[in-house]
Amino acid sequence: MIIVPSLLNANNYDIKSNLKEVGEAGITHLHIDIMDGHFVPNQAFGPNIINDLKKNTDFVLDVHLMIEEPENHINNYKNADIITVHYESTRHLYRNIQMIKSLGIKAGVAINPATPVCVIEDILPFVDQILVMTINPGVSNQIFIREMTKKINKLSKLKKENDFHYDIQVDGNITNETIKDCLKVGANVFVSGGYIFNGNSIKERINSLIKAGEEYER
Ligand code: ZN
Repeated sequence: MIIVPSLLNANNYDIKSNLKEVGEAGITHLHIDIMDGHFVPNQAFGPNIINDLKKNTDFVLDVHLMIEEPENHINNYKNADIITVHYESTRHLYRNIQMIKSLGIKAGVAINPATPVCVIEDILPFVDQILVMTINPGVSNQIFIREMTKKINKLSKLKKENDFHYDIQVDGNITNETIKDCLKVGANVFVSGGYIFNGNSIKERINSLIKAGEEYER
């Protein structure tokens, strides 16, 4: 189980101390949502933040591109460790995966709530990560869509049946409650933003996610 805090919900004025606390809680991965204002209604971050984080931290940088035609921008994210592109954002998904891998970076594919697993089945052997959106991408403060757990279950079965190696990541209102629903059906990477950063203590919130995971495993 990997917990990946989303930078989008950190305090941008106090990012350094937020990340210090995240690191002290034992976190190794960081999720960075890149939004272009076209594929999703909002705009957020760009290559500079990835370059700065690479230079100044040891986090594994998990970059989620919520942008149209990501193939035109992938080369700007050479400092990422994992790049995930949306199935819905490009006509050339396989080419995107090839481009990411040619940079020596792990490649992921994300699907929106209305996108079924069957449309990405042929790309599954080639990817390191599948991201199942459990809310609409690019908009905060939404309710976790429970029906998405069926997709996680399906991906988990396909992985076992075919011996695929991808991680199953979930993104969208992951809390100490919803994390259990996702664990149950086979997700193993959990992006969490608002829950971690909008409480009283970042460390406490991370610990409660870890605890929820351990309780499930028991
Ligand atoms: Zn994301």
